[in-house]
Amino acid sequence: MNALEVRHLGYHYPDGTTALRDVTFAVAEGERVGLIGPNGAGKSTLLLHLNGLLPEHPAAVPTIHVFGTAVAEPQLAAIRARVGLLFQDPDDQIFCPTVWEDVAFGPLQLGLHGAGLATRVERALEQVGLGGFDERLPHHLSRGEKRRVCLAGLLACEARLLALDEPTSDLDPRGRRELKGLLEALPVAQVIATHDLELVVELCPRVIVLDRGGVVAQGPTAELLADEQLMLAHGLERPHILRHRHPH
Ligand code: ADP
Repeated sequence: MNALEVRHLGYHYPDGTTALRDVTFAVAEGERVGLIGPNGAGKSTLLLHLNGLLPEHPAAVPTIHVFGTAVAEPQLAAIRARVGLLFQDPDDQIFCPTVWEDVAFGPLQLGLHGAGLATRVERALEQVGLGGFDERLPHHLSRGEKRRVCLAGLLACEARLLALDEPTSDLDPRGRRELKGLLEALPVAQVIATHDLELVVELCPRVIVLDRGGVVAQGPTAELLADEQLMLAHGLERPHILRHRHPH
């Protein structure tokens, strides 16, 4: 069974802006897929659909399935537990006074408490390399650490599909490297929307190119990203990491 199936998804914002048109793709269990395209292509809008934050008025026929379950009422609570959405700005996602409370928030909503909750939180913090950060104040942490707190919150819910919106934007090289290592080690399906094409080359065997709300290409990363014409036509650039490789 696929982790994610999106079929003929279209979406207009209430002001009439068409943000997605006829988007169809699937992500296998444990697979990492890059989602690339210029600003305004619809990447964030697509990610918001994956755990039912959009649309306000669901289509009559469900267009998105996560592990076989339609992203629609009455399953939305269950879907949100399975799909972890990492916002582009960690400050939009962190709202508790301590790291521990912030990571515990999701699992608390799922009904965990006591020792079970504590174990989940500790494990998630260890997983992201923030063991011992329990009492730290999230707003005093670095950007990279904040992102890791957010990720720990998703892992503590045991999310099986991660939807990551620009996970490396504004991280310094070390923060980026650490986050990359972390995502690489996580055995769950991941959709990574990013302008960091080197990250896509390094982490994602497959990529989806989105432009003006539609999928313009999807396939093997090395092949698509080496296609200079395709990249330029959609406001992208062939990454340096591929420049030394000759197409065969
Ligand atoms: P990306 O993440 O690829 O930069 P977005 O999903 O943010 O693209 O945006 C897709 C399109 O939807 C753009 O044309 C953008 O201007 C528009 N859009 C995004 N959010 C809203 C909103 N809340 N209301 C109206 N239009 C929006």
